[in-house]
Amino acid sequence: MAEPAADATLRMVVLGRQGSGKGTQAARLSATYGPPHVSTGDAFRAAAASGSELGRTLKSYMDRGELVPDDVVVGVIREHLFGPGAPAGFILDGFPRTVAQAEALAEMASLRGIDIVIDLEADTEEVLQRMAGRRVCTKCGATYNIVDNPTKVPGSCDACGGSLAQRDDDTEDAIRRRLEIYETTTAPLIDWYRQRGLLVAVNAVGDVDAVTARVVAAVEGARQAKAAGQKSAASQSKGKGTLGT
Ligand SMILES: [Zn+2]
Repeated sequence: MAEPAADATLRMVVLGRQGSGKGTQAARLSATYGPPHVSTGDAFRAAAASGSELGRTLKSYMDRGELVPDDVVVGVIREHLFGPGAPAGFILDGFPRTVAQAEALAEMASLRGIDIVIDLEADTEEVLQRMAGRRVCTKCGATYNIVDNPTKVPGSCDACGGSLAQRDDDTEDAIRRRLEIYETTTAPLIDWYRQRGLLVAVNAVGDVDAVTARVVAAVEGARQAKAAGQKSAASQSKGKGTLGT
């Protein structure tokens, strides 16, 4: 396959449940194509540090450990992605999470819309196995995975020799509950993007590099289809599936 052409104006959304490798793949898409990888966590930290009114509101929710309301989340994303000095393109990770947030994003991005939405599909049992394999060093905080990133000596940190432990929220029951919540809230979001012709599903099971190759192939396919669609749309009527209409 030819080297994918970089385009810093690409606007992508990466969906996938915890354990699907979403953050890793979003970072790799950013390295391959050029737009910044924007995770909700990064946008939140930047807003909280900015001292703006919105940032102070956000910080008050975060400091109290409360769920941040939708309008505040949307406001932070609006400032981060569409405010002064915002990047031309982005690889979004962790936003949108609901149909309401997707509608807000479509409205914000209406001039050019969103180019591609990647859905990283991973089987529940596979995700469960991967997440249940996570271990963290109790001394230095380094993270490992007994499934695909084990330490040289079992149970002992490669960096400092500290002992490894499983996080409290990484038990099988807790992971199953989180996966169920994700399924319930995200299934309608996936349908919403599919109906608009933006969704590309990618099999996220297996080796990280193999998944990246699949993701890049999917993005290239979507870009080619979009370019072909724009050509034919120019000679026919306006294309269907445009966001914000
Ligand atoms: Zn350690």
